[in-house]
Formats: sequence, structure tokens, C-alpha cells
Amino acid sequence: MISEEKAREKILSAVAPLPATEVSLAHALHRFAANDLFATIPLPPFDNSAMDGYAVVANSAGKNARLKIAGEQPAGVSKNLSLSAGKTIRIFTGAPMPIGADAVVMQEETQREGDFVLIQAEQTSVGDFVRKAGADLAVGQQIVKRGDRLRPATLGLLASQGIESVRVGAQPRVALVTTGDELAAPGQQLRSGEIFDSNGLMLASLAAKTGMEVAMRRHCPDNFATLCTTLRDAVHQNAVIISGGVSVGEHDLVREALREIGAEIDLWRVAVKPGKPFLFGKRDRCLIFGLPGNPVSTFVTFLVFVRPALLQMMGAIDLSLPRANARLVHEITGDETRPHYFRGHLADGAFTVIGRQESHAIFGLARANALLRVRPEARLSAGSEVEVLLID
Ligand code: AMP
Ligand code: MG
Repeated sequence: MISEEKAREKILSAVAPLPATEVSLAHALHRFAANDLFATIPLPPFDNSAMDGYAVVANSAGKNARLKIAGEQPAGVSKNLSLSAGKTIRIFTGAPMPIGADAVVMQEETQREGDFVLIQAEQTSVGDFVRKAGADLAVGQQIVKRGDRLRPATLGLLASQGIESVRVGAQPRVALVTTGDELAAPGQQLRSGEIFDSNGLMLASLAAKTGMEVAMRRHCPDNFATLCTTLRDAVHQNAVIISGGVSVGEHDLVREALREIGAEIDLWRVAVKPGKPFLFGKRDRCLIFGLPGNPVSTFVTFLVFVRPALLQMMGAIDLSLPRANARLVHEITGDETRPHYFRGHLADGAFTVIGRQESHAIFGLARANALLRVRPEARLSAGSEVEVLLID
């Protein structure tokens, strides 16, 4: 049995990023930047007013100064107005500063008297309420690093540079294959001994959340010929994720079917709890992940092995789940030999293990928002400081 770390290393070394594509910013949310990007426009792009008010020369705008209004500059195209001492320009938030003005007095600290304005501010200094060109961002500064996930604010920043489209890693197309004679689709009538398929929808949701396109989704009974036909179809995608049938029973046919269709199996059985029967292989360039069918094992092995591989395919550099520090509410003892991912709930910095910690127990999983990886043989006492992985 291979260690969890070795298994992940082996998988990641087999994954090449897909070729990058250019997409419009409107379609770039949560994709990964394929290039470093640098500012070509300073932000703000020009000196402008931070307030609705009056643009002034600070040293002629003391308290009780009475200034003649020489023009008006709203936000928008610059009128190239200029200003001398004793005069003012009516100005609005975001409007370009008139030539010669070095401060703005906000409207609330003035009194309008026809074509004049009386300054009531106690003091006006150079730079007051002026947003200087380049103060937020200078030309040449890096705005995106290759591998960054493009978040809403990043997209806003790119738009502020006048950028319309961006090169990102391609979105992998994945096939999802659930296996098992005992499974019925939700909505069907259950016969004695059958259970509903949980993993199909859970994997489709995990795949979508990770940013992949689910291009094929199929259920297969534990029948060798059907499984081979389904897998032959599935390997035309960038990756295949199989649920169930990878363990050691006579009805676990996935390994044999993969060999039959000419796939290589790079690893099978990993020291991780839950998820021991996990399998990874390839058929040409298609990655194949065999996830044990117990729903918690499916979920955990997806996050631990499949997610980082697919993120790497999409051009991501940070492949880890978000983390948070937490205080353990009660004692936990690790497994004797395998790292154990406990499911729990993190609230106000405290982590509480939740539900039965068995690999079929999906109710507890559904209430969990974090995983705690406990090293083999570790004994963590109540109150220990731990780092948990956020799964929400
Ligand atoms: P397997 O990995 O095929 O040996 O399945 C292990 C356990 O997971 C069995 O109890 C299966 O009934 C259950 N199981 C397998 N696939 C699914 C699924 N798609 N949804 C819910 N339970 C499943
Ligand atoms: Mg099965």
C-alpha cells in the first residue's frame, strides 16, 4: 500500500496543464490565469475628486474665504478647466481635477451664494479629497500571477485596465461513472436490497464546484461487458471519475475492466482513511480515478486526490484546500496506520467532530464543514490547536 503523500505526488507528476484558451472576462470567473499580467494604466488614471464639492487652491481657501465659481466639472470627459487663486470650480466625485487646483472642499463644508461659495471648512490642505493618479496602482505593477484563480474583484481590476479577455487554463471535461447493482436513481422505486445512488450527484457537484465540465455521466451495473463499453466511451474525456467497484470483492470489476480497455493502473490502495481502495491510472492522456463507493470515501478521496489533479490540469498553482486554525473541542485518537480524515463542524474557531466516523455515514458528512487530518497514532487532547481543511 502506498502512502497518501506518495500517491498524490505520483498523480500530480502525471498531470499536465491543458493548453490555455482566451476567454472574455464575463466567462473567466474562477478560471486560472495562464499568464502574469501587469498594469498598463495607473489607478486612478488621473487626479480626481473624492467628493462632491469645490476644487480650490488650498492656500487661498481658508475658513470664510469667498471664492468665485469659474466653472463646473462633472465626472466624465474633462473640460480642461483651470483655476487660479480666489476662484473655484464646482466639482463632483470622480471628476478630473482642474489644472491649478490642489484640493477639494466638500460640499457639506461650504455655503453657496449665487456665483460665489463661502468656505466653512476649518482648514484646507494641499491634497484634501484629491485621489492622485497612480496612488492605488502604478503602471508596471503586477496585477495577476500565473495560476491565480480569477475572483470577482480580480475581474473588476482587469476590467479597470480596459482588458476584455484573458488567457486561462482550459476547463477539463470529465466523465462520471457510478457502479453497483444495488443502486437505483433517485425517483425510482427501490426494490428490496437496493439503495439510492448518492455519489453520482455528489461527484457531479464536486466536479462543477472545482470548475470542470461534466461531459458524460453514466451508471453501470456490476457487469464486466457493460463496464468495459462505458469506460471505453469515458476515456475520450480529459478525466474519468469512477465510483465503486475498486475494492477486492468478486463484484469489484473496475480494475479488470480498465486492464481490458488498455488502461494502465499506476496505483491502487492508498494508506488513507477513509478511501483505502483508491485507484489512479491513465489511458493515453485521459486520467482515471477509481473512488471507493462508500459516500464518505468518495467525497474524501475526491478532495484529497482528484481535486488537486484537476486543478493542476486547469493551470492552478495552489492546489490545497483552504485552511483554518481551530481549537479541538474533544479528544481524538488517530488510526493505527493510516492518516484519518475526521469530518466535523468548525464554528467560532472550535472544531467538533460530527456524526459517525464511518465511510458510509453520509448524514454526518452532510453536516460537516471541515475535515481534520489526524496522523497515524496521534492522540490529540481536548483544547489542542489544530489546522482544519474547509470543505464548504
Ligand atoms: P464498493 O466500493 O462498490 O465496494 O461499494 C462500497 C459501499 O458503497 C457499498 O455499501 C455500496 O452499496 C456503497 N455505494 C457504492 N456506490 C454508491 C453510490 N453511488 N451511492 C451510494 N452508495 C454507494
Ligand atoms: Mg460495488
